[in-house]
Amino acid sequence: MNIHEYQGKELLRQYGVAVPNGKVAFSPEEAVKTAKELGSEIIVVKAQIHAGGRGKAGGVKIAKNLDEVRAYAKELLGKVLVTHQTGPEGKEVKRLYIEEGSDIQKEYYLGLVLDRASSRVTLMGSEEGGMDIEEVAEATPEKIFKEEIDPVIGLTGFQARRMAFNMNIPANLVNKAAKLMLGLYDSFVDKDAAIVEINPLVVTGGGDVVALDAKFNFDANSLYRHKDILELRDFDEEDAKEIEASKYDLSYISLDGNIGCMVNGAGLAMATMDTISYYGGTPANFLDVGGGATAEKVTEAFKIILSDKNVKGIFVNIFGGIMKCDVIAEGVIAAAKEVGLQVPLVVRLEGTNVDLGKKLLNESGLNIIAADSMADGAQKIVELVG
Ligand code: ADP
Ligand code: MG
Repeated sequence: MNIHEYQGKELLRQYGVAVPNGKVAFSPEEAVKTAKELGSEIIVVKAQIHAGGRGKAGGVKIAKNLDEVRAYAKELLGKVLVTHQTGPEGKEVKRLYIEEGSDIQKEYYLGLVLDRASSRVTLMGSEEGGMDIEEVAEATPEKIFKEEIDPVIGLTGFQARRMAFNMNIPANLVNKAAKLMLGLYDSFVDKDAAIVEINPLVVTGGGDVVALDAKFNFDANSLYRHKDILELRDFDEEDAKEIEASKYDLSYISLDGNIGCMVNGAGLAMATMDTISYYGGTPANFLDVGGGATAEKVTEAFKIILSDKNVKGIFVNIFGGIMKCDVIAEGVIAAAKEVGLQVPLVVRLEGTNVDLGKKLLNESGLNIIAADSMADGAQKIVELVG
């Protein structure tokens, strides 16, 4: 789960990480009021969306007076911001962060990520901050430094200072930078984050080390024990179909194709999508109904697929192992009757209770095209969708 920059900074404050003063605003009036309260000479108006690259896309504005704050707030609120991370459809700006301007001397990069290769939280830092860190990693990987963190000991002061030296933080500010890193690490571990990125971390003219941006991503599996984090969830930033699916504990990801897929097991779901692509089609979603799905869950899953206006055909590809084919058939029939099935439906069933499942489907009166294999089913649905 992602959160907004202003929420990330609020969290950082609790861990003693230096961030500029600022406040969220939902209207130009609120923006001006906040700017007045901040009373700083330069005010930065920042679009709050769950994507980076806002600066380059015009989502970060530097205002020199309250009139400019109002004008920028008006301009940004309601605007669809397209950054290199939003995809071409962009994201609508509904919140702004009004922040005091920092006197930036230099921008650095700092991040924490769970490195799956070493199974350890890893601190990453670079003197090449502010810009796309991916490009730095590609062109000059030697400019990115890493510290693997022992989970028992945690990030040590020694490691943090070594990182600060490697990043070429001015010698008199190394201790401030190290303190910030320790706070950052504590927030990461306490809240079960998966990624935190401070890009840029800045050194200011006044000799402070400040987090100027904050991107947190949290492990969704841990949210049950972090009610405070869960409260920060912004449903506007998420796909409505994915939100609906999460209510029923379904693994569902929206894609931009036109063949809806209902599959059990992530591996089979991936293989099904590949096979559809192989025959020239494009999947509208990834959906794993899981092993223990009930007929009700399958019904909801099917309804979610049908609610996608782009779906021109559906391919149900089930291998009944733990999941029984008749349960799937019941769910498909219930959903199709409830919502009204207007698009072609190809079904391939195999495994436990397959005969019963097929019988239910045959007797349902639904217009179902049976497939003998995954390849056969994929070919059929691609043909039907055209
Ligand atoms: P994004 O990563 O989405 O582009 P950032 O928060 O990193 O957004 O902002 C982009 C750039 O805008 C920063 O690299 C920095 O140069 C400038 N900036 C952001 N916040 C401030 C601020 N409070 N004061 C001065 N400059 C800022
Ligand atoms: Mg940034």
